[in-house]
Amino acid sequence: MSFEIRFTDLAARIGRLETTHGVLETPAFIPVVHPVRQAISSEFLKDLGFNGVITNAYIALRHYGDEARKRGIHNIIKYDGIIMTDSGGYQVLEYGSIGIDHAIIAQFQKDIKSDICVPLDKPTGRGLKYETAKDYVDQTLKNAKETLEIVSAEKRDSDTNNKADPIWVGPIQGSEHSDLVKYSADTLDQMGFRLLALGSPVELMEAYEFATLSYMIATTKRSIPSKPLHLFGAGHPLTIPLVVALGCDMFDSASYMLYARFNRYMHKNGISRLEDLSYLTCPCQICSSYTIKELVEMEKDKRTIEIAKHNLYVLKSEISSVKQAIIDGKLWEYIMQKAHCHPKLMEATQLFKNFEFLESGTPLFKEKAVFLYDPIDQYRPEALRFRRMTSNFRKLKNKKMLILCVESNTHPFYSTSDFLGIVKKYPAAQICTYNPFLGIIPVEICDIFPASHNMMSRNQKYHVDDYPSFIESLLRFISSNKFEEIIVIADNFMQNVLKDIKIKELNLKITIFDYNRDIIS
Ligand SMILES: [Zn+2]
Repeated sequence: MSFEIRFTDLAARIGRLETTHGVLETPAFIPVVHPVRQAISSEFLKDLGFNGVITNAYIALRHYGDEARKRGIHNIIKYDGIIMTDSGGYQVLEYGSIGIDHAIIAQFQKDIKSDICVPLDKPTGRGLKYETAKDYVDQTLKNAKETLEIVSAEKRDSDTNNKADPIWVGPIQGSEHSDLVKYSADTLDQMGFRLLALGSPVELMEAYEFATLSYMIATTKRSIPSKPLHLFGAGHPLTIPLVVALGCDMFDSASYMLYARFNRYMHKNGISRLEDLSYLTCPCQICSSYTIKELVEMEKDKRTIEIAKHNLYVLKSEISSVKQAIIDGKLWEYIMQKAHCHPKLMEATQLFKNFEFLESGTPLFKEKAVFLYDPIDQYRPEALRFRRMTSNFRKLKNKKMLILCVESNTHPFYSTSDFLGIVKKYPAAQICTYNPFLGIIPVEICDIFPASHNMMSRNQKYHVDDYPSFIESLLRFISSNKFEEIIVIADNFMQNVLKDIKIKELNLKITIFDYNRDIIS
């Protein structure tokens, strides 16, 4: 198995996962296909650009048995792309037990030539007591270990070309118990699984518990930052940008069909009941062919199929938008824009300030400017990095005076007439601009990204209490450079910063001007 990463932003990656039936471009949404009762053809899915699907090995075994072994799963579901098989873990979650040994399910997945296989797991779902969840995790790990042993032993005993070997997925369980998620992920990683899958988020997503889901993914990514990660059962259009940004490379769901059964119509801002709509906002083939009235009055089975097809268009479009945002280096902006679609999503994005791992995939330089709007933007990786750089900045020894100027949208500051006026009048001063999001910007490094490439509203009122990182940045800069005097061209934000008790305690001589021009004249 090879996984090649082409572009990254935050923890998201556009990658290429090689399998025996072709290359899967990630992030990938993998639609669930029912092995017996699939209403939407595999051809439709492929034509729409889904070149990977997931189907259920347990149901295929029960329904087809040896016939599936003979024909292979690609023939059974009439799909020549990449097929991932689930082991029946979902049925375990629903019914408690499925009465089939994990070794049989493992062998069956191999026999039907699935491209990506999952050992039989015991999902922890949501709301389990710690001891019970731990027991489920241990059972899953035991199954996973024995499955790998069976598969490896068989491989040693045969001379078959290993190119046809499926990829085995390590199923991570533990749900909201983060130490169990970590234990599960670490153990599967050590066992040698090359693709990991995080289980049990369906119930969390049904309850819109996006914050808990974010913590689960964060715990996993901290343990396994590089290996590709699948997320089971994530098919809500609003969760796609969130889970991709946090580092999920693949996710499957039957949501397109499950929602359609209840007239739930997906759109870029969430999901609505068809009956509640006055307009079909989507230009897809289905929405251009019918009116809402025609859809509502349609015979139920046909309507379900038509809405499901529309839902697939929406999911496909969402994936494409997220990929474009990754390439543009605009994933942070995209997520924050989506966050306004639902308060629970907003709640989850506010956690990003605790997710240090988002920095690793964020490019050091971006061609497009970063857009800064809300207090959460002070924690975007580009801003964190810049403040870290400033904290290591040391002035020339003879500079006892610090001049702080309001940053304008003209970059770099040293190219402005304001700068030239100030430096002429105060040649021995350390000159910096300031920005509530990026902190202090010494003129010597003001042409380094994102100081050189950022855009914010200059008319908005920024409240000091919302920007604790700014006060930290200013205090650190002043104390590590031992200034004796400060001249500040203070906007409303800075006037309030200077009232902060920690700044007053520095006992510096501070002169305040209202605007850059006042200091020059
Ligand atoms: Zn549509």
